[in-house]
Amino acid sequence: EAKQNGRNRYQLFDAAQDAEFKHRGEGLQRLQVALERSEFELHFQPKVNLRNGRVTGAEALIRWRHPQHGLLAPATFLPLLEGHVLGLRLGEWVIGEALHQIEAWLDQGLRLAVSVNVSAWQFQQQDFVAQLAQMLLRHPRIGTGQLELEILETSSLENLQVASQMMRECRQLGVHFAIDDFGTGYSSLTYLKNLPAETLKIDQSFVRDMLNDHEAQAIVQGIIGLAAAFKRQVIAEGVETQNHGERLLALGCELAQGYGIARPMPAEQMLSWVQAWEASGRRMPAD
Ligand code: C2E
Ligand code: MG
Ligand code: MG
Ligand code: MG
Repeated sequence: EAKQNGRNRYQLFDAAQDAEFKHRGEGLQRLQVALERSEFELHFQPKVNLRNGRVTGAEALIRWRHPQHGLLAPATFLPLLEGHVLGLRLGEWVIGEALHQIEAWLDQGLRLAVSVNVSAWQFQQQDFVAQLAQMLLRHPRIGTGQLELEILETSSLENLQVASQMMRECRQLGVHFAIDDFGTGYSSLTYLKNLPAETLKIDQSFVRDMLNDHEAQAIVQGIIGLAAAFKRQVIAEGVETQNHGERLLALGCELAQGYGIARPMPAEQMLSWVQAWEASGRRMPAD
């Protein structure tokens, strides 16, 4: 299952090197057109429980299907949008599209929790919660915890009080939170204590290194311990091999996401992937 056809793998195209991106203004203009022409798409990467094999949800990851350059990774275009109103519009599109997809899957009998990456800047917008509430109203069948927002650890730090208040408001809408790339930012324990996020997401760099590097493993263990102490869920990202899966389970982390389980895939492939995964009885990543 880890093998995907090449279509889902994106190009190593550096937008900054491309003529139309030489100047930020031109890049933004092209991105605006891309949004109007619906050239963006969400791919979804499954999350599974390593203990019982159950598929627990999926993370939505944006791609740009560029007519000339093929499928482009978010790193090629998201930085350009940071701090620009177009970035907010795209962020809104991502949430809307994710909600639409959750319902489309419900129609197919597939109930998945979907997590969406939200930039600090997007999350800190005055009207973010109100807008989210509006969008959720249009999708009344989506249940509590079915939409999760992934926020970088560094992001909400600047104004912790405001951020945690906003998170509580979102929670009342049934929206859950994960702290993404946990361990790479300024994780103070006070920070964690004050942020009402249900889930900690162990950064893939620690997961990747933990089999050969005692300190990386200590960090993974530490995060798992913190999650337990603070009664949060914990999920590992970047799980590429069976050994990683076995070790995580031994350390007490049951939830995992990574290429060893599945690469991000177009929404249309998810139902058959879930069916095949469940029929296979697998619970561990394959090398
Ligand atoms: P992230 O949220 O930490 O997502 C994980 C990234 O690691 C994804 O890259 C995913 O494809 C990749 N990945 C998953 N499993 C493995 C693995 O086993 N090995 C390795 N080497 N990589 C793995 P992607 O899709 O290129 O996204 C990169 C980052 O871009 C994301 O990191 C997230 O911060 C950001 N991003 C993606 N989509 C969105 C979006 O819709 N909105 C915002 N604001 N940010 C997004
Ligand atoms: Mg993420
Ligand atoms: Mg991450
Ligand atoms: Mg990341």
